[in-house]
Amino acid sequence: MIIFFKKDIDRKCSIENIKHISGLDFVPFNFDENYIGIHILSDVDEKFIYDSIDGIKDIVYVDKPYKFVSRDFKKEDTIVHIGDVKIGGEYFETIGGPCSFENEDMFMEIAKSLKELGVNIIRGGAFKPRTSPYFFQGIGKYALISMRKITSDLGLKLVSEIVSTEDIEFFNEYVDVFQVGARNMQNFELLKKLGECNKPVLLKRGLSATIEEFLLSAEYIVSKGNINVILCERGIRTFEKSTRNTLDISAVPLVKKLSHLPIIVDPSHASGQFDLVEPLALASVSAGCNGIMVEVHNDPENALSDGHQSIKFKRFDDMNKKIHKIRKSLF
Ligand code: PEP
Ligand code: MN
Repeated sequence: MIIFFKKDIDRKCSIENIKHISGLDFVPFNFDENYIGIHILSDVDEKFIYDSIDGIKDIVYVDKPYKFVSRDFKKEDTIVHIGDVKIGGEYFETIGGPCSFENEDMFMEIAKSLKELGVNIIRGGAFKPRTSPYFFQGIGKYALISMRKITSDLGLKLVSEIVSTEDIEFFNEYVDVFQVGARNMQNFELLKKLGECNKPVLLKRGLSATIEEFLLSAEYIVSKGNINVILCERGIRTFEKSTRNTLDISAVPLVKKLSHLPIIVDPSHASGQFDLVEPLALASVSAGCNGIMVEVHNDPENALSDGHQSIKFKRFDDMNKKIHKIRKSLF
C-alpha cells in the first residue's frame, strides 16, 4: 500500500507525525514537487489509515514485490534528464563509445567522430569488471579525468561503469551517468548508495537475472529517492553458445508494461559479434526501447577489450539512420 500526501506541510515533521500516530513501518518517497508517497511495510487496513492520518491525497495498491518502479505506482513514463539530454517516453538516444578508454588519442578520435554523427552521450569504461584477472582491467581514475575533459570540450555527456561504493564521490564529479554493470546488478550496497545521489544511473540486467530481480534492483535505487534510473537489457545467459548472450527482446515491451522507467538495449554485449549489432538494435527499436547503447571503436581489431563486438563509425552511422527510419514509422 502506498499513500500519497500533499507536501504543503513541513515534510519531515509530517512524516515523523505519521510514524508517531500510526506506529507503522514505511519507506518515504518524494513523488514530485507537490506530493510525497509512503510505502507501508506492515499489513494494515485502509480505514485505520484514514482514521489515523490527515492530509491523504490517494492510496495506491501495488501487488508486485517492487513498488516505486512499478507502473501501478506511476502511470506516466519517467523521463530521465541528463543535463539537456532526455531518455524515456518519446525521447530516444543512441549511446556509443568504446568498451574501455585506452588512451587519450583513441578516445578523442572516437568522441569527435561520434559527436559529428550526432551522438549526445558517449560511453567509456575506466574500471572494467573482466572475467579473468589477467585481462585488461581498465586505466582507472585517470581515464575518468581524461574522458571528462574531452567530453566537456565537445559538449558530450559521459557514462562510465562504477564497480565500488568507494568510488562514488569521485565518479560523481566526473560522469553524467553512473553505469552499474551486469555483474553488479545485485550489489545492493552500491545500489543503495547510488539511490542517495540524484545523478542518473544506467542499470544493466544481470547475466542471469529475471525481469523481477532486475526491477527489484532498480527498486533499491528508486526507494532511496533517486528515480533517475535507465534500465538496460544486455542479453542473458542461456544454453545457446553461438552468441555471447541471448538478447531478451521480450524484456523491452514487458518492462515497459511493468515499469515507468525507460529501458534501453545493448546489442554489443548481447551478441558479442559486431555484425549482429545492427539487426539486434533494429529489432529492439521495433520492440519500443527508449535507446540503444553500442560499442564503437576506431580500430576494433586492436582494441584492448571487446573489439570483436565493436563497430566502426560507418556501420554506426548506417545503423543510426535505420533506427531513425524505424522510429519514424512507429510514431
Ligand atoms: C560494459 O558495458 O562495458 C559491460 C561490461 O557490460 P555488461 O555489464 O553488460 O557486461
Ligand atoms: Mn564491453
